[in-house]
Amino acid sequence: GATLQLNELQRYYDNFGAVRGVSLSLEAGQFLTLLGPSGSGKTTTLMMIAGFIEPTAGEILLNGQPVTHLEAHKRDIGMVFQNYALFPHMTVLDNVAFPLKMRKVPRAERLERAADFVRRVGLENFSHRYPVQLSGGQQQRVALARALVFSPSLVLMDEPLGALDRRLRLQMQEEIKNLQTELGLTVVYVTHDQEEALTMSDQVAVMENGRISCYGPPRTIYEKP
Ligand code: ADP
Ligand code: ADP
Repeated sequence: GATLQLNELQRYYDNFGAVRGVSLSLEAGQFLTLLGPSGSGKTTTLMMIAGFIEPTAGEILLNGQPVTHLEAHKRDIGMVFQNYALFPHMTVLDNVAFPLKMRKVPRAERLERAADFVRRVGLENFSHRYPVQLSGGQQQRVALARALVFSPSLVLMDEPLGALDRRLRLQMQEEIKNLQTELGLTVVYVTHDQEEALTMSDQVAVMENGRISCYGPPRTIYEKP
């Protein structure tokens, strides 16, 4: 994984500050959660790191290098969203192989690598199904495999488990955490669920009104009066 640094990151819409000066520093292989209520600026922050939204001011450093306003796939960033955004006309295996195809990885190699990640998320018996033939949890596993298959230096997740029921959410939290540890991934994770932030994170940044109101390891956040 990469190191990530945000320096006084801001995003204004006319005079409204969606993100009003966010600074943080993340070591390689760490799991950071942006925790906060709806409208606090979590998604805007994540989309600036992804390169989908241009900052009004401030700086994003990935491995110490300023991140320019490029598409995510050119910047080696994996992404997972709440609505899985799978390609409906592609099988599980082709969905997972797609990022490798975009990177011109030869066919035999990309199929082998995609099959490996399909197995890692426990879907080896579903490789040839289409998204519509899968449950919500299975679709999210495909999205996860597709985000990780090209060994991204950074993985961004925006409420990836928000559409799942509680039991499946707990199970997927564990699976994501296991993959993150095993692969040494640097992750920025967005949620409004405190329990999720507590169980998964190395660092939590609590966001309120476009700013970080509290930042540190989960236990220091939750011990606050
Ligand atoms: P969160 O992810 O924490 O729910 P967002 O980052 O989506 O928060 O939004 C932060 C604030 O910025 C919200 O008040 C939202 O309405 C506002 N906002 C987000 N995108 C736009 C936009 N394109 N134009 C105007 N306001 C926006
Ligand atoms: P092949 O070389 O196997 O014919 P294609 O380049 O046609 O591969 O792409 C494989 C599948 O991916 C096709 O069904 C195509 O429609 C789909 N596809 C290609 N690019 C995109 C894209 N940007 N978004 C969604 N689907 C795409």
